Amino acid sequence: MDAEARPSLRDLPSVDQVLRTPAGAHAAARFGRAPATGAIRAALDEVRACVLAGQLAALPSADHVAAAAADALERGARSSLRPVFNLTGTVLHTNLGRALLAEEAVAAATAAMRSAVALEFDLSTGKRGERDDHVRELLIELTGAEDATVVNNNAAAVLLVLNTLGLAKEAIVSRGELIEIGGAFRMPDIMARAGVKLVEVGTTNRTHPRDYAGALTPETGLVLKVHTSNYRIEGFTKEVPGRELAEIAHARGVPLVNDLGSGTLVDLSRIGLTHEPTVREAVTEGADIVTFSGDKLLGGPQTGFIVGKAALIEKINRNPMKRALRVDKIRLAALEATLRLYRDPERLAHKLPTLRLLARTREDIAARAADLAGPVAEILDGAFDVEVVDCASQIGSGALPLETLPSAALAIRSAFEASGGQLNALASALRELPVPIIGRITEGALLLDLRCLEDEAGFIDSLDHIDLAHRAGPS
Ligand SMILES: *Cc1c(COP(=O)(O)O)cnc(C)c1O
Repeated sequence: MDAEARPSLRDLPSVDQVLRTPAGAHAAARFGRAPATGAIRAALDEVRACVLAGQLAALPSADHVAAAAADALERGARSSLRPVFNLTGTVLHTNLGRALLAEEAVAAATAAMRSAVALEFDLSTGKRGERDDHVRELLIELTGAEDATVVNNNAAAVLLVLNTLGLAKEAIVSRGELIEIGGAFRMPDIMARAGVKLVEVGTTNRTHPRDYAGALTPETGLVLKVHTSNYRIEGFTKEVPGRELAEIAHARGVPLVNDLGSGTLVDLSRIGLTHEPTVREAVTEGADIVTFSGDKLLGGPQTGFIVGKAALIEKINRNPMKRALRVDKIRLAALEATLRLYRDPERLAHKLPTLRLLARTREDIAARAADLAGPVAEILDGAFDVEVVDCASQIGSGALPLETLPSAALAIRSAFEASGGQLNALASALRELPVPIIGRITEGALLLDLRCLEDEAGFIDSLDHIDLAHRAGPS
C-alpha cells in the first residue's frame, strides 16, 4: 500500500466519541468507566499500529472500535477457572479438577461460605472445639479405625505421617512401590523432605517378608506400604500382603503405614468395577496408619485422610506442620456432607457423581449419544461427519489404572479432508465456547466420550455458540 492510500490518523475517533456510542456506553455501564476507557484506548492503539504498518485501507468507525473494546472486556471478564464439559473419557481427570461434588456437599459448602460456622467451637459447652470433630466420628464409623484426622490432600497426609513417625529415622519401602504420582510427588523426594531416611528393600518385581525383616533395626521409624495405584507390575512378582507385613513390623514394635492413594470406602464390585482394597480392609489387616485422598474414588473435595491408631493420630495432630496443611471450613463442610452419604450405601451410587458416572452402562451412554448425534451434526453444519462409536472410559487419578469402562462417544471426523488441521481447529473452537467442551483426538477423529455428560441441554446450548468462521474451510 502506498503512503497516499494510508488513512490519516487525525480522523481516528477519540476515546470520548467511542464512549458515547451505544456499545461504548453499554460497556461503561457493565464493566465500569475506567475499564471501558482502558479497553477503548487499547483498541485505538491497535488501530493506530495497523495504520502505521500500512495494514488498514480505511479507519474503523467509533461503533466498530466500541465493539472491539467490548469484546475484549467480555473475554477478560470470563473466569479462567470456569466450568467445562469433561468429555475426555477420564472420569477423575486431575487437570479438570477430579471429583464432582454431590449436591449435598455443594449446599453445605455454600452455606459455610456465607456465614460464620462452629468450626472450632463446641456448641454444647460453648468452649473451643476441634476442626476435625466434624468428620472424625464419620471416618471412624466408615473405616473401623480408632481415630482420624484430615489435611489438605493425600500428598500432605503422607508428608505429615512420614515427618511425625520417621523424622531422623528410617522408613522401609519395597523397591516395587517407590511411586511417582505425577507432578512433583515422588516417594523418595517426599521422604527426603520429610526428614526420613529411605531404606529400599526387595527388587522392582519381588519383595519378600525376609527383605523387610532383615532391614528392621533400632533406627526404623516405620514400614511403609504404598498402593501402586497408577501402574501394575505383572508377571513374576511378589509383594508381602498387608497382614503379614503388619506382623513383621509389630514384632519389632514398629508401625505399619499404608498409603492407599485413591482409597475407597465401599466395595467397588457393587457397581461392577474390580474390587479395590477398601480403607476398612487396610485397617483390619493391621495397618497402624492408612492415608488416602478425598477427591479420587471417594468423590469428595480435595482432602487427605489419615486414619488409624489413636496414639499415633494424637502424635500426628501435635506435629506443628499439621497447622500448615489443614483444610478450611468450606472444604470441611463439603467433606462432612459427602461422608454422610456413605451412611446410606443404597442411594450412594445415585447421589455421588463419581460413582454415578462410573456406574453408567455403555447401553445408557450409547442411547444418549444416538439422540445427540443429529443435533451436533446440524450445528457443525455439514463440515463434519458425526457418528456414535464404542469407546473405553478410564477411571483416572491413578485408580484402577488398567481397568477401562465400556462407553460410547460421538466421533467427529472432517467431511472434507483426512489431515488433522480441521479437527485441531474444531477442538480449539470447542475450547472457546462459553462452557468449553474438552474431548480427545484419536485416529483421525475427535472423540466426545459422553460418560460424564449429564447436562445435555447445556451441552447443546454451549455448542450452539461455536464460531464456525474460525475453522479452516473445506480445501
Ligand atoms: C494420588 C496418590 C497420592 C497423592 O494424593 P493427592 O490427594 O493427589 O495429594 C499419594 N499416594 C498415592 C498412592 C496416590 O495414588
